[in-house]
Amino acid sequence: MRRKLVAGNWKMNGSLAALAELDGIAAAAAAYPGVDVAVAVPATLIAPAHARAPGLAIGAEDIHPAPSGAHTGCLSAAMVAEAGATFTIVGHSERRIEQRESGQDVWAKAEAGHRGGLGVILCLGETDVERASGRAERVVSSQLERALPGDATGDWLTIAYEPRWAIGTGLTPTPGDVQAIHGAVRAKMVDLLGDAGHAIRILYGGSVTGENAARMFALPDVDGALVGGASLTAAKFVPIIAAAAGL
Ligand code: PEP
Repeated sequence: MRRKLVAGNWKMNGSLAALAELDGIAAAAAAYPGVDVAVAVPATLIAPAHARAPGLAIGAEDIHPAPSGAHTGCLSAAMVAEAGATFTIVGHSERRIEQRESGQDVWAKAEAGHRGGLGVILCLGETDVERASGRAERVVSSQLERALPGDATGDWLTIAYEPRWAIGTGLTPTPGDVQAIHGAVRAKMVDLLGDAGHAIRILYGGSVTGENAARMFALPDVDGALVGGASLTAAKFVPIIAAAAGL
Protein backbone atom coordinates (compact mmCIF):
# COMPACT_ATOMS: atom_id res chain seq x y z
CA MET A 1 0.00 0.00 0.00
CA ARG A 2 1.61 3.26 -1.11
CA ARG A 3 0.97 6.33 1.06
CA LYS A 4 -0.01 9.48 -0.76
CA LEU A 5 2.69 12.18 -0.97
CA VAL A 6 1.95 15.83 -1.67
CA ALA A 7 5.20 17.68 -2.38
CA GLY A 8 5.61 21.39 -3.08
CA ASN A 9 8.27 22.92 -5.30
CA TRP A 10 8.83 26.61 -4.63
CA LYS A 11 11.31 26.96 -7.53
CA MET A 12 13.00 30.41 -7.50
CA ASN A 13 10.29 31.89 -5.29
CA GLY A 14 10.06 32.65 -1.61
CA SER A 15 11.85 34.62 1.06
CA LEU A 16 12.31 34.51 4.81
CA ALA A 17 8.96 36.29 5.14
CA ALA A 18 7.27 33.69 2.92
CA LEU A 19 8.27 30.93 5.34
CA ALA A 20 5.24 31.99 7.40
CA GLU A 21 3.25 29.92 4.85
CA LEU A 22 4.91 26.81 6.26
CA ASP A 23 2.98 27.25 9.53
CA GLY A 24 -0.32 26.42 7.85
CA ILE A 25 1.25 23.68 5.72
CA ALA A 26 2.83 22.05 8.79
CA ALA A 27 -0.49 22.26 10.63
CA ALA A 28 -2.21 20.48 7.71
CA ALA A 29 0.52 17.83 7.65
CA ALA A 30 -0.16 17.18 11.33
CA ALA A 31 -3.93 17.22 10.81
CA TYR A 32 -3.77 14.62 8.00
CA PRO A 33 -1.30 12.00 9.28
CA GLY A 34 -2.26 9.59 6.51
CA VAL A 35 -0.63 11.85 3.91
CA ASP A 36 3.09 12.58 3.55
CA VAL A 37 3.73 16.29 3.00
CA ALA A 38 7.00 17.81 1.78
CA VAL A 39 8.19 21.17 0.46
CA ALA A 40 11.29 21.77 -1.69
CA VAL A 41 12.55 25.33 -1.28
CA PRO A 42 15.41 27.43 -2.70
CA ALA A 43 18.74 26.42 -1.13
CA THR A 44 18.98 29.65 0.88
CA LEU A 45 15.71 28.79 2.63
CA ILE A 46 16.40 25.15 3.54
CA ALA A 47 17.91 25.86 6.97
CA PRO A 48 15.41 28.53 8.03
CA ALA A 49 12.50 26.45 6.67
CA HIS A 50 13.68 23.45 8.68
CA ALA A 51 14.06 25.63 11.78
CA ARG A 52 10.58 27.09 11.35
CA ALA A 53 8.81 23.78 10.56
CA PRO A 54 10.94 20.99 12.06
CA GLY A 55 8.16 18.44 11.66
CA LEU A 56 7.80 19.04 7.93
CA ALA A 57 9.95 17.34 5.27
CA ILE A 58 12.00 20.14 3.69
CA GLY A 59 13.88 19.42 0.50
CA ALA A 60 16.29 20.81 -2.07
CA GLU A 61 15.28 21.52 -5.66
CA ASP A 62 18.51 20.09 -7.10
CA ILE A 63 21.93 18.76 -6.08
CA HIS A 64 25.26 18.23 -7.83
CA PRO A 65 26.20 14.58 -8.44
CA ALA A 66 29.68 14.94 -6.91
CA PRO A 67 30.25 14.82 -3.14
CA SER A 68 32.58 17.86 -3.21
CA GLY A 69 35.06 19.65 -5.47
CA ALA A 70 35.53 22.44 -7.98
CA HIS A 71 31.90 23.10 -8.93
CA THR A 72 31.32 26.79 -8.33
CA GLY A 73 27.79 27.62 -7.29
CA CYS A 74 26.70 24.01 -6.78
CA LEU A 75 25.63 22.09 -3.67
CA SER A 76 26.19 18.44 -2.78
CA ALA A 77 23.71 16.08 -1.18
CA ALA A 78 25.64 16.27 2.09
CA MET A 79 25.47 20.08 2.08
CA VAL A 80 21.72 20.28 1.65
CA ALA A 81 21.28 17.47 4.18
CA GLU A 82 23.37 19.40 6.70
CA ALA A 83 21.11 22.40 6.14
CA GLY A 84 18.09 20.26 7.02
CA ALA A 85 16.90 18.80 3.69
CA THR A 86 15.64 15.23 3.80
CA PHE A 87 15.01 14.92 0.07
CA THR A 88 15.86 16.48 -3.28
CA ILE A 89 14.12 16.89 -6.61
CA VAL A 90 16.21 15.81 -9.64
CA GLY A 91 15.55 16.13 -13.35
CA HIS A 92 12.89 18.83 -13.17
CA SER A 93 12.04 19.84 -16.73
CA GLU A 94 13.07 23.43 -16.05
CA ARG A 95 16.58 22.18 -15.27
CA ARG A 96 16.60 19.71 -18.16
CA ILE A 97 15.82 22.69 -20.45
CA GLU A 98 17.63 25.65 -18.83
CA GLN A 99 20.70 23.74 -17.60
CA ARG A 100 20.59 21.20 -20.43
CA GLU A 101 20.65 18.25 -18.03
CA SER A 102 20.80 14.87 -19.75
CA GLY A 103 19.30 11.58 -18.63
CA GLN A 104 22.78 10.55 -17.50
CA ASP A 105 23.07 13.72 -15.37
CA VAL A 106 19.71 13.01 -13.77
CA TRP A 107 20.68 9.40 -13.05
CA ALA A 108 23.94 10.59 -11.42
CA LYS A 109 22.06 13.11 -9.27
CA ALA A 110 19.54 10.49 -8.18
CA GLU A 111 22.40 8.14 -7.19
CA ALA A 112 24.17 10.96 -5.36
CA GLY A 113 21.02 11.89 -3.46
CA HIS A 114 20.57 8.31 -2.34
CA ARG A 115 24.26 7.95 -1.37
CA GLY A 116 23.90 11.14 0.65
CA GLY A 117 20.91 9.79 2.55
CA LEU A 118 18.26 11.88 0.82
CA GLY A 119 14.91 10.88 -0.59
CA VAL A 120 14.79 11.60 -4.32
CA ILE A 121 11.91 12.85 -6.48
CA LEU A 122 12.87 12.11 -10.09
CA CYS A 123 10.88 14.09 -12.69
CA LEU A 124 9.88 12.88 -16.16
CA GLY A 125 7.63 14.42 -18.79
CA GLU A 126 7.04 15.00 -22.48
CA THR A 127 6.74 18.27 -24.44
CA ASP A 128 3.56 19.37 -26.20
CA VAL A 129 5.08 18.44 -29.57
CA GLU A 130 5.94 14.95 -28.34
CA ARG A 131 2.39 14.46 -27.03
CA ALA A 132 0.80 15.81 -30.20
CA SER A 133 2.81 13.37 -32.28
CA GLY A 134 1.72 10.40 -30.15
CA ARG A 135 5.14 9.87 -28.56
CA ALA A 136 4.38 10.81 -24.93
CA GLU A 137 4.55 7.29 -23.53
CA ARG A 138 7.69 6.38 -25.46
CA VAL A 139 9.49 9.59 -24.40
CA VAL A 140 8.62 9.20 -20.72
CA SER A 141 9.54 5.54 -20.75
CA SER A 142 12.91 6.29 -22.31
CA GLN A 143 13.59 9.11 -19.79
CA LEU A 144 12.81 6.63 -17.01
CA GLU A 145 15.09 3.97 -18.44
CA ARG A 146 18.00 6.43 -18.65
CA ALA A 147 17.64 7.97 -15.20
CA LEU A 148 16.32 5.17 -12.98
CA PRO A 149 18.97 3.88 -10.55
CA GLY A 150 19.19 0.08 -10.68
CA ASP A 151 19.01 -0.18 -6.89
CA ALA A 152 15.96 2.08 -6.51
CA THR A 153 13.36 1.24 -3.88
CA GLY A 154 10.22 2.95 -2.65
CA ASP A 155 12.04 3.81 0.58
CA TRP A 156 13.97 6.55 -1.13
CA LEU A 157 12.80 7.07 -4.71
CA THR A 158 9.64 8.77 -5.95
CA ILE A 159 8.83 9.41 -9.62
CA ALA A 160 7.01 12.59 -10.68
CA TYR A 161 5.32 12.57 -14.08
CA GLU A 162 5.12 16.21 -15.15
CA PRO A 163 4.14 16.90 -18.77
CA ARG A 164 6.16 20.03 -19.61
CA TRP A 165 3.22 21.68 -21.32
CA ALA A 166 1.13 21.37 -18.14
CA ILE A 167 3.66 23.06 -15.83
CA GLY A 168 2.48 26.51 -14.78
CA THR A 169 0.03 26.76 -17.69
CA GLY A 170 -3.28 25.84 -16.09
CA LEU A 171 -3.52 22.98 -18.62
CA THR A 172 -3.78 19.38 -17.46
CA PRO A 173 -3.94 16.06 -19.30
CA THR A 174 -7.18 14.11 -19.06
CA PRO A 175 -7.34 11.62 -16.19
CA GLY A 176 -7.21 8.88 -18.83
CA ASP A 177 -3.97 10.27 -20.26
CA VAL A 178 -2.44 10.58 -16.79
CA GLN A 179 -3.34 7.00 -15.88
CA ALA A 180 -1.99 5.73 -19.21
CA ILE A 181 1.45 7.26 -18.51
CA HIS A 182 1.49 6.32 -14.84
CA GLY A 183 0.50 2.75 -15.74
CA ALA A 184 3.29 2.59 -18.32
CA VAL A 185 5.83 3.99 -15.81
CA ARG A 186 4.71 1.43 -13.24
CA ALA A 187 5.02 -1.43 -15.74
CA LYS A 188 8.48 -0.26 -16.81
CA MET A 189 9.69 0.00 -13.21
CA VAL A 190 8.47 -3.51 -12.45
CA ASP A 191 10.18 -4.69 -15.61
CA LEU A 192 13.48 -3.04 -14.58
CA LEU A 193 13.39 -3.48 -10.80
CA GLY A 194 11.06 -6.41 -10.16
CA ASP A 195 8.75 -6.16 -7.15
CA ALA A 196 10.49 -3.00 -5.91
CA GLY A 197 8.80 -1.23 -8.82
CA HIS A 198 5.41 -1.71 -7.18
CA ALA A 199 6.42 0.22 -4.07
CA ILE A 200 7.81 3.34 -5.78
CA ARG A 201 5.36 6.22 -5.70
CA ILE A 202 4.42 8.03 -8.90
CA LEU A 203 3.27 11.63 -8.42
CA TYR A 204 1.43 13.67 -11.01
CA GLY A 205 2.65 17.26 -11.50
CA GLY A 206 1.45 20.10 -13.71
CA SER A 207 -1.09 22.76 -12.72
CA VAL A 208 -2.45 20.76 -9.78
CA THR A 209 -4.93 22.78 -7.71
CA GLY A 210 -7.40 22.20 -4.92
CA GLU A 211 -10.06 21.89 -7.62
CA ASN A 212 -8.51 19.17 -9.80
CA ALA A 213 -6.42 17.23 -7.23
CA ALA A 214 -9.10 14.78 -6.13
CA ARG A 215 -9.69 13.74 -9.75
CA MET A 216 -6.01 12.87 -10.15
CA PHE A 217 -5.70 11.17 -6.76
CA ALA A 218 -8.58 8.83 -7.61
CA LEU A 219 -6.51 7.22 -10.39
CA PRO A 220 -4.98 3.85 -9.43
CA ASP A 221 -1.36 4.71 -10.21
CA VAL A 222 -1.37 8.32 -8.96
CA ASP A 223 0.25 8.33 -5.53
CA GLY A 224 0.19 12.06 -4.92
CA ALA A 225 1.28 15.30 -6.55
CA LEU A 226 4.28 17.52 -7.16
CA VAL A 227 2.93 21.05 -6.96
CA GLY A 228 4.57 24.27 -8.10
CA GLY A 229 2.51 27.47 -8.04
CA ALA A 230 -0.17 26.22 -5.68
CA SER A 231 2.44 25.22 -3.07
CA LEU A 232 3.51 28.82 -2.46
CA THR A 233 0.66 29.59 -0.07
CA ALA A 234 -0.98 27.48 2.60
CA ALA A 235 -4.37 28.66 1.33
CA LYS A 236 -3.79 26.93 -2.03
CA PHE A 237 -1.63 24.00 -0.89
CA VAL A 238 -3.67 22.76 2.07
CA PRO A 239 -6.78 21.86 -0.04
CA ILE A 240 -4.51 19.60 -2.14
CA ILE A 241 -3.26 17.88 1.02
CA ALA A 242 -6.89 17.49 2.16
CA ALA A 243 -7.81 15.98 -1.22
CA ALA A 244 -5.01 13.41 -0.81
CA ALA A 245 -6.50 12.54 2.57
CA GLY A 246 -9.78 11.85 0.76
CA LEU A 247 -11.53 14.95 2.12
C1 PEP B 1 6.34 21.96 -11.12
O1 PEP B 1 7.06 22.80 -11.59
O2 PEP B 1 6.85 20.98 -10.57
C2 PEP B 1 4.90 22.15 -11.23
C3 PEP B 1 4.16 21.08 -11.23
O3 PEP B 1 4.45 23.43 -11.38
P1 PEP B 1 2.90 23.90 -11.39
O4 PEP B 1 2.18 23.15 -10.31
O5 PEP B 1 2.96 25.37 -11.13
O6 PEP B 1 2.37 23.57 -12.74
